[in-house]
Amino acid sequence: MRSWSAPNVPRLPGSGLPLRLYDTAAREVRETRPTGEARMYVCGITPYDATHLGHANTYLAFDLVNRVWRDAGHDVHYTQNATDVDDPLLERAQATGVDWQALAEREIDLYRSDMEALRILPPREYVGVTEIIEEIADLVGRLTERGATYELDGDVYFSVAAAPKFGAVSGYSEERMLELFPERGGDPGREGKRHPLDWLLWRAERAHEPSWPAPFGPGRPGWHVECTAIALRNLGSGFDVAGGGSDLIFPHHEMGASEGHVATGEWPFARAYVHAGMVGLDGEKMSKSKGNLVFVSKLRQTADPMAVRLALLAHHYRSDWEWTPGQLAEAEARLARWRAAFARPSGPDATAVLAGVRERMADDLDAPGALAVIDQWAAEEGDDPAAPGLVRDIADSLLGVAVGVG
Ligand code: ZN
Repeated sequence: MRSWSAPNVPRLPGSGLPLRLYDTAAREVRETRPTGEARMYVCGITPYDATHLGHANTYLAFDLVNRVWRDAGHDVHYTQNATDVDDPLLERAQATGVDWQALAEREIDLYRSDMEALRILPPREYVGVTEIIEEIADLVGRLTERGATYELDGDVYFSVAAAPKFGAVSGYSEERMLELFPERGGDPGREGKRHPLDWLLWRAERAHEPSWPAPFGPGRPGWHVECTAIALRNLGSGFDVAGGGSDLIFPHHEMGASEGHVATGEWPFARAYVHAGMVGLDGEKMSKSKGNLVFVSKLRQTADPMAVRLALLAHHYRSDWEWTPGQLAEAEARLARWRAAFARPSGPDATAVLAGVRERMADDLDAPGALAVIDQWAAEEGDDPAAPGLVRDIADSLLGVAVGVG
């Protein structure tokens, strides 16, 4: 389906550094080494509610990956999905008396406009699950040929016993997995399953639910297999970064990695698993089930979206943190300082700013460190007439913060 429009990204002199990222599966910071295109898959939204700050924080983190790679000279092949059919969407549609497709379309539209306002670079392919049901069913068929599936009352399950690399992404103990699985859409207690951690690949048709034909009976796909199918179709296995919020480490990315491995025989499915931290409010993780959401669309009714972006950049992408309105005020003040500094007829030499921001961002996306480099430049005086324009381009290109100085 339609992606969203791309902001302009100024080209900077010279070339950026190789990007180092914390890989959850390796449990350390490692250099990314794209060969040819840099390939990235980021898990998208389930469109039953508006984009909240937790989402924005995640998509911003991978926007920074995209920008740092491009600055280092890579062509970036970025794919994202939208889970436009799933339990929470259907439940919300039924509870509010709205058609599920109309609900998904409305929320995806709002998400696109939020992403545009925040100057998040769009994916090359933005794929709705309902657009590729046939490919997902093919993948389920391939997993069945490999002997990795079984049927339970018409539903198709992946058998965890068929996944030799299961556990390699999260590193979690079985006890921890069993604790998280039911909290994140799993059904460990279902009668008739061979193992509590076996997961649903295909849900057989139920009354009043949408369904699609498949060789193993009409129904709809499970959550994990949709991303595996979309990533394999667009990027192939062994792509550079699989991304999402840290709540996707298990089960979503763990199970998707095993599906990719068993289907292709190739490992790793993604060369790095990269996860953004959770944004909280009043001591709790921001989530739909808790109802403590701060929506991007609401914030940008009164705040400059670039201030919202700066407020997010003030936290390292991997940290968990809490949103307070005071952070937006601080970001607005920083934006005003930068705007004034960029409008000066001259400033201190910007060579060190370019090197410093590149160095901070290549080091596991240290955006707070990069902001400090620009803050320091803005606080000093100098006589280089080219410097304000260059620093403005650095902020725009590498941090996505476009500061109009008109
Ligand atoms: Zn996903």
